[in-house]
Amino acid sequence: KYQKVLEENCKLYNQVQDLRGNIRVYCRVRPFMPGKPNHLSTVEDLDERTITILTPSKYGKEGRKSFTFNKVFGPSASQEEVFADTQPLIRSVLDGYNVCIFAYGQTGSGKTHTMTGPPELTKESVGVNFRALSDLFLISEQRKDTIAYDVSVQMIEIYNEQVRDLLVMDEIRNNSQNGVNVPDANLVHVTSTSDVINLMNLGQKNRAVGSTAMNIRSSRSHSCLTVHVQGRYVTSGTVVRGCMHLVDLAGSERVDKSEAVGDRLKEAQHINKSLSALGDVISSLAQKQSHVPYRNSKLTQLLQDSLGGQAKTLMFVHISPEPDTLGETISTLKFAERVSTVELGTARANKESAGVKELKQQIASLKAALARKE
Ligand code: ADP
Ligand code: MG
Repeated sequence: KYQKVLEENCKLYNQVQDLRGNIRVYCRVRPFMPGKPNHLSTVEDLDERTITILTPSKYGKEGRKSFTFNKVFGPSASQEEVFADTQPLIRSVLDGYNVCIFAYGQTGSGKTHTMTGPPELTKESVGVNFRALSDLFLISEQRKDTIAYDVSVQMIEIYNEQVRDLLVMDEIRNNSQNGVNVPDANLVHVTSTSDVINLMNLGQKNRAVGSTAMNIRSSRSHSCLTVHVQGRYVTSGTVVRGCMHLVDLAGSERVDKSEAVGDRLKEAQHINKSLSALGDVISSLAQKQSHVPYRNSKLTQLLQDSLGGQAKTLMFVHISPEPDTLGETISTLKFAERVSTVELGTARANKESAGVKELKQQIASLKAALARKE
């Protein structure tokens, strides 16, 4: 009888955690660039969940501001540690959930490092997307006697509100006129992580071909790797479908108004518009508002089915520790705070945590009671 109550409580506890976890925001601070003096970090302090920044007005004196997230990763956090807190989402894709993982931050703050890894990839340095895919194939292999999985991928780029398919094999096709549907982009069946790596390389190559300066272009467009998973239960024939979008967003830096003209200005306006549309969508989901403004950008339109409802969202916000980027760091953290479900010292946050605390206490006392019985 105790066992049953314990199980029910654990289930309830997990559900509560689950509810709380539909939108998660993790903050990652990259290390100082090699060769830069590193005694002047704008990050004064950080722990598992809170980061304290020295604010510009009183920089170097006592001005500071703290931000709380689901998780904070400092400059020494490894790719493995970062992925450990991402891993549960991969399992839920195979269970039929839709998942979006975003990398947000100004250019040079470490978005591509988190998602893909550094230019020279090693087993230790590979990023979230490789780890997610190898996990996906590993778990599907473990489950193969029960569920037969089928995996396919798409890779697109959104530049100036136009969608481009990066997995076209021989020519670059511009999907702009009907680019709203991801289903229009090539869907390629894959059976291993190395298949996906090959496709990602192709996507990178296509991305470079279509632009004169690949680095500049890549920081001004969003790139999205989508993994579709379909699982069929061997005995019942029931089908589960899930998908995972891995999105390396355009750099969030604001372009100097006096400097931006012509193409730069147009790019900047498109980026601003789509990043703030994404922020609006996630923050209205976080606040459980009835109207969610998906239609304000291509990105949110494309990802509509994977944002909100049962879907799970993880946003990695990246910041650089250098003083010369402090303005951008603060605006990144403010964006992150807006999309976060972590509430600072409000009644609601306290009430929620009290509920969880109570469940934890019940579980502990039931466990103790169970131990006494045995
Ligand atoms: P973004 O994609 O946001 O423009 P990058 O991922 O390209 O930024 O990172 C900029 C530079 O900093 C790259 O040389 C990258 O390898 C390095 N870097 C970023 N994050 C880390 C990290 N956590 N650890 C070590 N190097 C990093
Ligand atoms: Mg990048």
